[in-house]
Amino acid sequence: MTPPARPRHTVVLIEDESQMRRFLRVALDAEGYDVIEAATAAEGLKQVAGYHPGLVLLDLGLPDGDGVDVTRQIRTWSDRPIIVLSARGRDRDKIAALDAGADDYLTKPFSTGELLARMRVALRRSEGRGSPDDAVFSVGDLVVDRARRLVQVRGQEVHLTPTEYRLLAVLVQHAGKVLTQQHLLREVWGPGRTTEAHYLRVYMQQLRTKLEADPSRPRYLRTEPGVGYRLRVEE
Ligand code: CA
Repeated sequence: MTPPARPRHTVVLIEDESQMRRFLRVALDAEGYDVIEAATAAEGLKQVAGYHPGLVLLDLGLPDGDGVDVTRQIRTWSDRPIIVLSARGRDRDKIAALDAGADDYLTKPFSTGELLARMRVALRRSEGRGSPDDAVFSVGDLVVDRARRLVQVRGQEVHLTPTEYRLLAVLVQHAGKVLTQQHLLREVWGPGRTTEAHYLRVYMQQLRTKLEADPSRPRYLRTEPGVGYRLRVEE
């Protein structure tokens, strides 16, 4: 039996380094993606508007503009996933891109395997499979049933406080995506508490203690250092 053909996705790649574009084109071609290349911010915006791609890969440092601005512009009319590829390792650049509406970021150099995995997650999220609208979310031995407000680990029900549950529910709603500390604080504690990062640390620790087999080496509730947190969707 031949496996069912995977749907082909169009990817717009906005990157000014030709070597990087070539490398990514080869890697993505091999995985069955159709790659549309753009070397500038202006060209990239045109391609995204014209092709309605399944996903956008976006470099932050472009000759005619900044990727954060490109993200903001795309977000005024499109909710396609945007993954930022950046040589900038600084936390505030990552946070600015995520807060502008990017779904994820990878710091260069990154491995092709990691990029492809992140792309699959972003595409699955946007296609609605394992989507935020599913009442039951599961990864590994963690199950979160949002219709019944029921959380299970290894088949055992886990009791969470209302705040712990709210934090987990926000992570589930955006599963796979990096959420900045500010975003989480705003959603869980309200707009007045976005600087109280210690709340988040305390509650994240509590959640890990209840949900992770080894809270000091979490499998699900991952820290994105200096930026925020991510609930993993793939093992
Ligand atoms: Ca660049």
